[in-house]
Amino acid sequence: MTGPVGDRPEAGSTAERVPAVEAVDVSRTYQLDGVSVEALRGVSLIVHPGDYVALVGPSGSGKSTLMHLLGGLDRPTGGRLVIGGRDVNALSPPEMATLRNETIGFVFQAFHLLPRTSAVENVALPLVYRGVPARQRRERAAAMLGRVGLGHRLDHRPNQMSGGEQQRVAIARALVTEPTVLLADEPTGNLDSVTGAAVLELLEQLNAESGVALVLVTHDQEVAGRAARRITMRDGVVVTDSDDPHDRPLSVDHDRPETLVPAPSAEPRSVSGSGPGHPSGGSGGAAGATGRLPQEPAPGGAEVGRPGGVA
Ligand code: ADP
Repeated sequence: MTGPVGDRPEAGSTAERVPAVEAVDVSRTYQLDGVSVEALRGVSLIVHPGDYVALVGPSGSGKSTLMHLLGGLDRPTGGRLVIGGRDVNALSPPEMATLRNETIGFVFQAFHLLPRTSAVENVALPLVYRGVPARQRRERAAAMLGRVGLGHRLDHRPNQMSGGEQQRVAIARALVTEPTVLLADEPTGNLDSVTGAAVLELLEQLNAESGVALVLVTHDQEVAGRAARRITMRDGVVVTDSDDPHDRPLSVDHDRPETLVPAPSAEPRSVSGSGPGHPSGGSGGAAGATGRLPQEPAPGGAEVGRPGGVA
């Protein structure tokens, strides 16, 4: 079946080799009450179209910060982040918003649907920001809802739907723009196990049928175990990446003996070293941030949660 998220690229095709997102030695330092918090300390990874990645790690390890960066909701304070072939440090806020709308879909634990707006209108909303005419918006949203098994619920409002149905609406909204990457933050976290398993199967089906990369944050080992690739974070660094042939065990960082870092390796990781590294405070950064980012992008991908002081 083909559908709104497009056909999966042929194995080995050029399209498959172009990264959907590439992070090179990315850092993110928050400033909070005069104290610097290093949420990310040099993360390098590539997400390819069609990838199925589980992002795991203890609370505070930097997963949400990384997801915000991968989704273009925030910018690194150091390193290079390329989304859909575009270096985010070179983009203005409106250009970032457009890039997000064109390339990224978000799914959240708490669904974040407009409660008094019908399912079909919720799903069509991102297309408003694309300038898609009203009739086409409804047609595309209805088709996407059909794809997630809710073709019979078009005019229901979220508050008339079960949690599992609401999450399906949120998935349809995330995919109606045909993104290359779907970022899902604990997508089954608010659902009972049976409903959660069905939602996960739906995400996997959409990932398998199309070229959309699926990156999901989860605390659930069972969920993480199903992903084709598993990235583990701790203390702001990637400590294991099942896709990385240079994965190495943890060792003590001599500058920060309280933390663990990947052990030094003779060979670089898959992407580190391929671009300039700016371990902290680089240009285009967001060091002026003072509060946590909200978990939800504005409808249609408008840039929200922009930390203060970002150029
Ligand atoms: P996780 O998602 O793995 O729980 P986070 O990315 O939320 O981790 O947080 C990583 C670190 O950055 C934590 O120490 C957290 O307190 C800190 N942090 C996250 N967001 C902010 C913020 N907006 N301001 C200050 N510190 C933050």
